[in-house]
Amino acid sequence: MGTTIFILSGPGGSGKTTLLNTLFRKKDFAKHFMRTVSFTTREKRPREKEGKDYFFVSKKEFLACKEKNFFLESQKVVDDYYGTPKYFYAKAKDEHKSLILCIDVKGGMYLKKHLKVGKIVTIFISAPTRSELYKRLTVRAEKKDVIRKRLALAKQELQFSRYYDYVVINKDIKTAVHDLEKILRT
Ligand code: 5GP
Repeated sequence: MGTTIFILSGPGGSGKTTLLNTLFRKKDFAKHFMRTVSFTTREKRPREKEGKDYFFVSKKEFLACKEKNFFLESQKVVDDYYGTPKYFYAKAKDEHKSLILCIDVKGGMYLKKHLKVGKIVTIFISAPTRSELYKRLTVRAEKKDVIRKRLALAKQELQFSRYYDYVVINKDIKTAVHDLEKILRT
């Protein structure tokens, strides 16, 4: 039996990362689940940590890794590249853990179609409303044109929620964590 792969997608601002961070702080959770750390070419946000939130690399380094077949999947999101290193899958398998990937809808749909190992479960995380999403994106203090691009992307991504096995509406964090954990643990 292969490792179960859970794919979490949803627009930036839907709260995927917060939900996952909350789950990984729970006792026991990390015994059964491992999360991937992606490579990205985007700029580090103030509170992010190298190697924990992402591995921050230049476009040149990223493309060299891609060339060497280092990624399980990779995509361009807005203006930057993101990729999931392959080695997490082997590590999760070794440690008999399920693997959680937080990736965009294109990456999610790609893996659902092409990954032939293990079992794949796809979960779409959504903000309750467009205005709530806008509020969450603005709090990140990103530039106006970045927010505009990400809102446009969110609209596109929402169209894909129908192809996911589960949808979790992140209205309040406590309920959403509970809903997500239930899906992951069944
Ligand atoms: P952010 O810049 O807000 O951290 O992420 C932007 C989008 O890229 C999010 O939807 C996030 O889930 C996605 N993303 C992060 N890492 C990866 C990855 O390795 N592959 C793909 N396809 N998407 C990723």
